[in-house]
Amino acid sequence: MSVISVVDLYSLDREGLVSLMAELGEPRFRAAQVASWLVRGVDDPHRMTDLPGALRERLAEMTAGSTPELVAHRVADDGRTHKFLLRFADGEAIETVLMRYPRRATVCISTQAGCAMGCPFCATGQAGLRRQLSAGEIVRQVVVAQQALATGRVGDVELGPAGLEGGGPDHVTNVVYMGMGEPLANLDATVASVRWLHDPEGFGLSARSITVSTVGLVPAIGRLADLGLPLTLAVSLHAATDTLRDELVPINRTHPLVELEDAVQAYRARTRRRVTIEWCLIGDVNDDLVQADALARIARRVRAHVNVIPMNPTPGVRWKEPTVARTQAFIARLEQAGATVTLRDTRGRDAEAACGQLLAARTLGDGSILPAARGAAGRVDALLSVAEGPSGGGR
Ligand code: SAH
Ligand code: SF4
Repeated sequence: MSVISVVDLYSLDREGLVSLMAELGEPRFRAAQVASWLVRGVDDPHRMTDLPGALRERLAEMTAGSTPELVAHRVADDGRTHKFLLRFADGEAIETVLMRYPRRATVCISTQAGCAMGCPFCATGQAGLRRQLSAGEIVRQVVVAQQALATGRVGDVELGPAGLEGGGPDHVTNVVYMGMGEPLANLDATVASVRWLHDPEGFGLSARSITVSTVGLVPAIGRLADLGLPLTLAVSLHAATDTLRDELVPINRTHPLVELEDAVQAYRARTRRRVTIEWCLIGDVNDDLVQADALARIARRVRAHVNVIPMNPTPGVRWKEPTVARTQAFIARLEQAGATVTLRDTRGRDAEAACGQLLAARTLGDGSILPAARGAAGRVDALLSVAEGPSGGGR
């Protein structure tokens, strides 16, 4: 047994890899060799064929247990949506969703197991925060998606007959931080993972193709802007008056709309990036024309694009998706008021706007319940019946 605790190579940046090699008495250039495998999605040291055998063995020993286990895989939308439930060595599980389009492959990743923000319409929030994910655990979700696209397998698991056939890119082109958890409540790990993904010598994704979604943690938005990484920022607004937002997005009681709007303006000024406003449209809650007018005013002031996503019904939540008529009226009103709007089709299809919300509970083969569901005792049956539904949970 090694005295060194398990090392996740993706949790190390360039300097971290150099220090690791130094600790192991290896020359500096080995760090670059290891990195070049990692960015190609190869994390098994045994497969790093240009390393000396002894180093491969040593690394394999140190990193054993850092690769998450695929405990469930669901295919929706005729093979275009793949949901992966990944479990880390400590038993915590998270959801990663891969969405394939003719010309892009988007992966929706989680940044926390659970979430502390308590938005009442969100399944992830129901269990509270279980723990932060490390940078490596965040990056690994992209690696899993990358492996799936390139090989039709994740680790030893064949993805089945639906596989990943049907065209589209064979590598990840876009990443959205819209899975489980609040990325800006895990800012250091989120930023470290972005660096891996964005680094031209890393995964080489353009900043434009990386979207970080936040509930509106104002100080962290400022820190993100200071980094000078021109990421796309998506702000989950959901209500355009403080009274309603206090209820739908409890962090609003700490950082009310006026503060959030200033932070968005500052982000746009610093990064020259257009911000996206996410609006989960909830029937008879935030789908009226007063909200539409107030939303349009905010969107125009901060020059944001609005994404409207009809609420995905969540067990244990009394609110429902809006009617088609109210949805259309809401969109029309926004457009009349001069806002630019996209209506998302959510049925597990264009899950880009909000994934990771529903697979909070899932039976394992042996009938046990994943940790993420423990806080949801009593609602578990309901959650499972949804998670087992035709599109694997909808999102
Ligand atoms: N915590 C971050 C990112 C993860 S949530 C955030 O809140 O922005 C990603 C998106 O999914 C958010 O816009 C969130 O409001 C939305 N969402 C959560 N539950 C939903 C539901 N039941 N239906 C539709 N969208 C939902
Ligand atoms: Fe957390 Fe986002 Fe869900 Fe709110 S919507 S509870 S911030 S994951």
